[in-house]
Amino acid sequence: MWNNRPSQQGLFIVISGPSGTGKTSVIRELCESDTTLAFSISATTRPPRSDEADGIDYYFLDETEFEALINSGGFLEWVKYGGHYYGTLKSTIESTIEKGKDLVLEIDVHGAMKVKDLGIRYTSIFLLPPSLESLEKRLRNRKTESDSELEQRLLTAKSEFAYVKDYKYCILNPDHNVKEAVTQIRHIISAERCRIDDQLLDAISQEFCC
Ligand code: 5GP
Repeated sequence: MWNNRPSQQGLFIVISGPSGTGKTSVIRELCESDTTLAFSISATTRPPRSDEADGIDYYFLDETEFEALINSGGFLEWVKYGGHYYGTLKSTIESTIEKGKDLVLEIDVHGAMKVKDLGIRYTSIFLLPPSLESLEKRLRNRKTESDSELEQRLLTAKSEFAYVKDYKYCILNPDHNVKEAVTQIRHIISAERCRIDDQLLDAISQEFCC
């Protein structure tokens, strides 16, 4: 009797979107409300913002530490964004897989392309703001960047929309309604967990085929 689908290799859920789209709030709500999901804590050389804590939002490293990890092959992927390093640590991935959880990676478009090239079981979601105006307003209101950094983030944001075609899903994050985007992401994850892959086909073959 087959009551449960056999356990599969953990799913990687890559979520990207221009700075100011509200990714962090959406992902925080998503992971807090679903214990089968783990947030992949990236390493960065960007200074912490006032509401960020080391080991929760990021692992905050200096350049020397980050570059040593690059040289020792410690990253699954890494990029330079706005003059700072950001990267997904292999050790984070390994410990999450051991716990049998699916992993949510909040990474930029270039990191997402690197994950795509790894040939692992993953899905990708691009989060859209309602408009460029709203994106700019959100970025200006949060007051976390200097004027020049903000202009740079806006320029980068505009260039990132060209990568939507490389993602599997694209959803809108409306203003002031995190729950709507979270619900849509949950639906996507549910569907992805039912996907047919080689591991599932092997299990079906062992259970049902002579
Ligand atoms: P922020 O400084 O706003 O926290 O992040 C800047 C950008 O870096 C965002 O687009 C965010 O998704 C991306 N980012 C954060 N961590 C990583 C990472 O580990 N790898 C990559 N490729 N991008 C990251």
